[in-house]
Amino acid sequence: MKVYINPGHDTKYDSGAVNPETSLRECDVAAAVGELVRGYLEKAGCEVMLRQSDNLFYDSDYANRSEPVVVEANNWGADILVSLHCNASCSKDALALALHFQRTLAETQPHA
Ligand SMILES: [Zn+2]
Repeated sequence: MKVYINPGHDTKYDSGAVNPETSLRECDVAAAVGELVRGYLEKAGCEVMLRQSDNLFYDSDYANRSEPVVVEANNWGADILVSLHCNASCSKDALALALHFQRTLAETQPHA
C-alpha cells in the first residue's frame, strides 16, 4: 500500500495554530507526528511519501509554491493521502477529534 503523508501547514507560509504561551506551532507538531507515522507504516510494509505543505490543491496565491499535495499524491499513485493537523481551541476543556474523508472511485470500480 502506498501512503502519502502530508503534515499540515508549513514553516514558511502558514504555521497553523500557535500556542500563545509556549509559541508551540502546529506545523512543528504535525511534522513530528508525520515522521513517527512514516516510521510505523514503513515497518508495517507500506511505501510512504511525506511532504509538509499547506498547498493542498491550487489554493495558494503564492506563485513560487511547489506542486500541490493532491497532484503529487495522485501522480505518485498513492492509495491514500493523510493530511495531519492539530487543531486548537481557546478552551482548556475542549476535547475533540475531527476526521474528514473524501473517496473518489473510478467508474470501473464496483461501488460498495
Ligand atoms: Zn491545521
